[in-house]
This record gives sequence, structure tokens and C-alpha cells, in this order.
Amino acid sequence: MSAVESLESYLGGKWSRGQGVETELVDPTNGAVMATASGKGLDSGEALAFARQRGGPALRALTYAERAKLIGAVADVLIANRARYEEIAIANSGNTKIDAAIDIDGGIGTLKYYARLGAPLGEAKALLDDKPVRLAKAENFLGLHLLTARHGVAVHINAFNFPSWGLWEKAACALLSGMPMLAKPASATCWLSHQMVRDVIAAKVLPEGALSLLCGGIGDLLDHVTADDVIAFTGSSDTAHRIVAHRHVLARGTRVNIEADSVNAALLAPGVAPATPAFDAFVKEVAREMTVKAGQKCTAIRRVFVPKERASSVAEAIAARLAKTAVGDPRNEATRMGPLVTRAQQKAALDGIAQLANEATFLAGGKDAPRLDGIDATKSAFVAPTLLKLEGDGRAVHETEVFGPCATIVSYLDEAHAFALAGRGGGSLFASVYGEDREFLARAVAELGASHGRVLAVDPSIAEAHTGHGIVMPQCHHGGPGRAGNGAELGGLFGLRFYHQRVAVQGSSDLLAALQTKAAPQH
Ligand code: NAP
Repeated sequence: MSAVESLESYLGGKWSRGQGVETELVDPTNGAVMATASGKGLDSGEALAFARQRGGPALRALTYAERAKLIGAVADVLIANRARYEEIAIANSGNTKIDAAIDIDGGIGTLKYYARLGAPLGEAKALLDDKPVRLAKAENFLGLHLLTARHGVAVHINAFNFPSWGLWEKAACALLSGMPMLAKPASATCWLSHQMVRDVIAAKVLPEGALSLLCGGIGDLLDHVTADDVIAFTGSSDTAHRIVAHRHVLARGTRVNIEADSVNAALLAPGVAPATPAFDAFVKEVAREMTVKAGQKCTAIRRVFVPKERASSVAEAIAARLAKTAVGDPRNEATRMGPLVTRAQQKAALDGIAQLANEATFLAGGKDAPRLDGIDATKSAFVAPTLLKLEGDGRAVHETEVFGPCATIVSYLDEAHAFALAGRGGGSLFASVYGEDREFLARAVAELGASHGRVLAVDPSIAEAHTGHGIVMPQCHHGGPGRAGNGAELGGLFGLRFYHQRVAVQGSSDLLAALQTKAAPQH
């Protein structure tokens, strides 16, 4: 990994390099430049046309089961080359091996899940949304909803924090649906996406035009989307607003899915005593969420709601865990948390922490980058695990997403107060709640569910067994209301809806019966 690689894009069925250097991809532990990317001068209009004309028909000619096989083959290629991906993730994303596994194996696991899910759909070429209903006095005139693959390209614009998982979780749903895709990973970490796509293309496991990749800036890509295409975006709210308001996207009515930022919550139920399974599970999960991937997960816990009388014991227990978290070069086996991905992200996180500190006090970490043995603070992008405690009523805590290893403890007075505070996030991806009283947990699901896309309810019976607050499971819906973007991804076959057109078919019972034999039930 010594020479600086100038990353190419795979567009129109060939590899090509943009002009100059738009972005230097660095090692955030020491500032070394590892690769460069540029999308300048690349013809994205032609690339989209190629994908539409070649990839779309080739994929739509296959059945769901055949496409599921292709997805499985992509996963196999990635498994065969995994060691190289881990190296890149450590060097370019500052990942520890565990962080890298969440991204790399998360992507591979999601592909495998959709390969398994698609296989039993068999020969079908459409999905059946419901049963036929009678529409008139005549008994043989019926209506039925079918989902049929769209004829455009799935444009996937991804965030920097999951160059593997973000790429493949979207790919799995698009390809199984029969839509070709063009992925545009975030420039700062696109090296891993680039290497993975290069391996998949070299293995020739997908039809030509099914998979395209743009490494570098977005350029004029959005000027070329059509009404048949879809855009699935993951990233900040600011960029999301620009995409949704893009003149051409609006004019064409291109379908858009947004996965944006979020101030996720963890809530300790009233009456949970220290050193009980629910209390320990809560403390462990908050500390883990703060430090895994250095807190750069869209689902990470940012707000920690605790009964007022438990605030001190929770604070002490989380701070004690954070104190044991070894921060440093992710190449060292002892390191438990690496740097943020860039110095720009470090600055944004430290600015956000300073904002929170206007209304909260520090229990761990602080406003400045940590001093670490053997690490040059002028070149690296570290942020210390930072725990704050809100004093009085806060505002920034509910509105500021610090995209790093930072969370704030917020005391609540009673149940109603807790739910009202959680709702002040303005719509989030995820909340988790920890307690022994199942009736309270059921009320929490109803209350938190109104403003969150997913709720994890941990009672002692699953304190050790659950998959974690921040891990996105492909079986479950991913997305959140309000500021989280109102998006919907994954969730089993539901994740395929975005890539299909739901069509109401009105016709004779004989015709509808024939159509049903060529469609697989979606539920
Ligand atoms: P970002 O700055 O918004 O960038 C996201 C993507 O948009 C990148 O590929 C970026 O390309 C591209 N982009 C930039 N300007 C654009 C434009 N005008 N039109 C179209 N695309 C454009 O976000 P980020 O910093 O990479 O990611 C961090 C954010 O993502 C956090 O807020 C986090 O909460 C959120 N996130 C959400 C989820 C979720 O599932 N909800 C998952 C992960 C992250 P360049 O890199 O080339 O600029």
C-alpha cells in the first residue's frame, strides 16, 4: 500500500479516471495521503444511459431467483477478497478490526440475506401486493396491486462512514428488484467501495451495465436522471435538501429516498436499580455505541435519558467504561477506538461538542483533540470519547448531531417527561429502551415509535442476546421520520418496494388469475 493510487470510476462498461485531483484520501491516524479521486470530466449522462439500455433489460430478463443467485455470487467474490478490504478500512477510515467488520461483513451479510430471501421467489417477475378485490356488480371485474420493476437506474449516493455496508445494502435491494445501479460513494472513503467494485467487475458475476461506480464529486449527474430512475441518498440533511430541491430532480419527478442525520436516544426505564441486568445492558450499550467506529454511525446513541435519581450512577458507570477504552492507532491490537475519518470531520465534531458544552458539563473527554502517545495531533483526526451531562433544559442536545464519540446524559422527571424529551429530536432513526417492566416497555414502543423508525426494547431476557442498538438488521426497516429523512430501506422484501412501481391492475378475474401465477407474494 505504498504508492498513491488514483482511483478510477466504472462507467459505461469501462474504467476511467477523472481529471486532476478533487479529493485526497488520507490515513486519519497520521495524515498520509493514500489515494486520490476525481469525477471531473466523466460523462455521467452517458453512464446512466448505458446502465438503462444494457443493465436494465439484462436484469429484468432474469427471475427473482436468478437475480438472488447473482447477489450471492457478489457476496462470494467479496468474501474471497476480504483481507484486502480490512487493510483499506484501517488505513483510510481509521477503523479498528471490529469497526471494519461491521462495515465489510455488514455489507456481505446483507447481500447474503437478500440472496436467501430472493431464492424462494422463484420464477416470478413481479411481486404481488395483496389479494384481488371485487370492484363492481359483475363478479369477474376485479382489482389487484402488483409491484413491477422500474425501468431506470438506481442512483445510490452514500455517506463516508459505511463505504461497504452502504454500497451493498442498497445494491442488494436494487439488483434483486431488477434495477441496474450507479453507486456514488463519499469521496473521503471511496477507496474501499472502489476496490470491492473492481473485484466484482473482474469476476464478471453481473451482467454488463448492472453495476456502475462514480469515484469523486457528483458533478452534473443529477442533471441526467429521468422519471424512471430513483435516487437513494444517505448523508447529511444539508446535502439531502439540495438533492430533493434539485431543479432537474423536481422537474422530472425522480423518486428519492433520504436517509439523513439523527439524534438517536437510549432510555433507562424508571425504577431500574444499578447492577441489575437492565441497568448493566444500558450502560454497556451506551459506551459501546459511543466508541464503535468512533461514534460515526448514523444510528449511534447521542442522547441518554435517565430518571433524575439515577443520573449520577449512570454517569459514573458509563465514564468508568469510557476510561478503559484505549484510543489510538487502529493497527495496534490493544486499540479499541481509532480516529474520525478526516480532520474536517474532527473539526465538525469538536465544534458540535463545544455547542453542547454551552448547556452541559463534561464527565469525560472535552472540547479539544486528545494528546496521544506516538500520534501527531497536527496530522491526525482523533476525538476523545466525550460524555456530557445536561444542566437544566437543553436545546442543542436535541438538535445537534455530533458525528463522533459523544453522547449527553439528560435527566427526566417521569415517564411522560421522558417520552416528550425523546420526541424533541425532531424524528430519529432509532431509540432503545431498557427496563424490567414489560408494560412500561410496551408504552415506550408506542410513544417512541411515533418519532423513531426503529425501537429496541431490552428486558433482562434478551440483555445478552440482542444484536445491539446501532446494528442495522436487514430483516428490519431502516429509516426514520422528520429530520432523519422519512426514508425507508431494507426490512426484508419491503426494501424492494422503492425499486418497483406499484400498479393497480383492473381487469377480468381470468386475466388477474393469470397475472398472479407470474407474481410472488410480497408478504
Ligand atoms: P454528506 O456530506 O451529506 O455526503 C453524502 C454524499 O453526498 C457523499 O457521497 C457526497 O459526495 C454527496 N454529495 C455532496 N454534495 C452533493 C450534492 N450537491 N448533490 C448530491 N450529492 C452530494 O454526508 P457525509 O458527511 O458523507 O455523511 C455523514 C452524515 O450522514 C451524518 O449526518 C450521518 O448521520 C448521515 N448518515 C445517515 C445514515 C442513515 O442511514 N440515515 C447512514 C450513514 C450516515 P462527496 O463525498 O464527493 O462530497
